[in-house]
Amino acid sequence: MSASPAAPSATKPPVTVLGLGLMGYALADALLTAGHRVTVWNRTAAKAAPLVERGALLAPSVREALEAGPLTIACLLDYDTQRALLEPAAGALHGRTLVSLTNGSPAQARETESWALALGARYVDGGIMAVPHQIATPEAFLFYSGAQDPFDEHRTTLSVLGTPHYLGPEVDVASLYDLALLSGMDMMFAGFFHATAVATSHKGTTASDFAPHLVTWLTSMLGMVPLMAADIDSSGPPAYSQTLDLVRAAARNMGDAAREAGVRADHFDRTVAELDGRIAAGETEYTASTAVDRLRVPARG
Ligand code: NDP
Repeated sequence: MSASPAAPSATKPPVTVLGLGLMGYALADALLTAGHRVTVWNRTAAKAAPLVERGALLAPSVREALEAGPLTIACLLDYDTQRALLEPAAGALHGRTLVSLTNGSPAQARETESWALALGARYVDGGIMAVPHQIATPEAFLFYSGAQDPFDEHRTTLSVLGTPHYLGPEVDVASLYDLALLSGMDMMFAGFFHATAVATSHKGTTASDFAPHLVTWLTSMLGMVPLMAADIDSSGPPAYSQTLDLVRAAARNMGDAAREAGVRADHFDRTVAELDGRIAAGETEYTASTAVDRLRVPARG
């Protein structure tokens, strides 16, 4: 349940939120609770009703939403949706700041910045590292990048949503970090799903039985991340290293265990094939640096 909003404050700047999906609603709700005058717009206007009951203003159009104040936070399905909504009202962005918290690629951040600057707007790109119920809690953090002046000007307002990490004036860095973290999360969940499929092939083992072991194991392994990161950054001898023979033997075992459990083993088959190639080429050592290097696509000459 939402906290009661503080009375809109004369000292807290007004904010517009475009998009009241699960995330946009949480953002608007947090700003309202913090005492900002919040104007909202959403394609499905009915979603604004509980916010309006608590004091938010529902703008009848995107243009009027943009015109309601100096700062608009957009949180929509994707950048195509965002642009399609903003384009017809683009003139209203002149002299105002647009902060996009819509998830998008670094290229989309660069394109949107160019588009916004050409309109005389100020633009900050952001990435939300939280799920809706974490907004405005200590767990929430957000990446921002782009022009520093508008970020500094609105930092206090943006801080309501979660801890802001400003990553500098290159507008695409926030989305790069955001998508890098999402990639890590996606692969972690893929690992959880795979491990659970393997473990629950044992009759009588449930996912809930197995999950605490996985959590303990992964938590312990997370402690290695900073050590491996230091190895990747260093040109000296690595602190973490295994032989490729050992890593290949483990990958074979993981593939065989998956097959025996009736679970797809294609990830491990690809890993073994790649390690076969490296061993055949004379490589012997598996380190964090070589693991990262092997992921890089060679630049086209
Ligand atoms: P939802 O699917 O709940 O909401 C999508 C929003 O986009 C709604 O406001 C929806 O309007 C609007 N929308 C979709 N299509 C159109 C369209 N054709 N025209 C106009 N409006 C449209 O998504 P979330 O709110 O969860 O996510 C919003 C953004 O936040 C996404 O980019 C997402 O990646 C990002 N995000 C979400 C997180 C999460 O955990 N949910 C976490 C971190 C980032 P309507 O209500 O009318 O359908």
